[in-house]
Amino acid sequence: MRKLRIIKSTPLERITYVVAERLKEVYGLDVVVDEKTFSVTPQSFNALRRQHNAVSIAEILSKMKKHDELLLALVDVDVYAPGLNYCFGIALKGVAVVSTYRLDPRFYDLPYDESLYRDRTVKEACHEVGHLLGLQHCSDPKCVMHFSNWIYDTDVKGYMPCARCTSKLR
Ligand SMILES: [Zn+2]
Ligand SMILES: [Zn+2]
Repeated sequence: MRKLRIIKSTPLERITYVVAERLKEVYGLDVVVDEKTFSVTPQSFNALRRQHNAVSIAEILSKMKKHDELLLALVDVDVYAPGLNYCFGIALKGVAVVSTYRLDPRFYDLPYDESLYRDRTVKEACHEVGHLLGLQHCSDPKCVMHFSNWIYDTDVKGYMPCARCTSKLR
């Protein structure tokens, strides 16, 4: 069974455990949640954009990754990827980063809603881990591998890969 370790820099304890359960359910991974929290360092911060570079965060994390595991970090800072104004996450070389910053309804001046916040985090985590397992973007708007250009896309999609994506996993 493939191992996946989750580390977080957010105080979202309950949400992290739901993410772990869903990743087990969707991909059949052996998931553990690291007890230690991970701190995003100033090294990945772009002062002009006032955002962290998700690629730099992933590169820093790749040094903490054991060779037989996949690593997922849940961070609460705003992140971007080169060529994008912002992103919800990134996956490269066995490391995935999901930012909860723009998944929180409060970012859109809406009241706090833990179940919505949790569902969005689950979907983006299942999306990035899907990339780690070799899946690419999917044109089905309900499939977890559909690319989220903005939060509406995340709300439309589910946390499960469609039949076509699932068949590629096997
Ligand atoms: Zn993607
Ligand atoms: Zn799909």
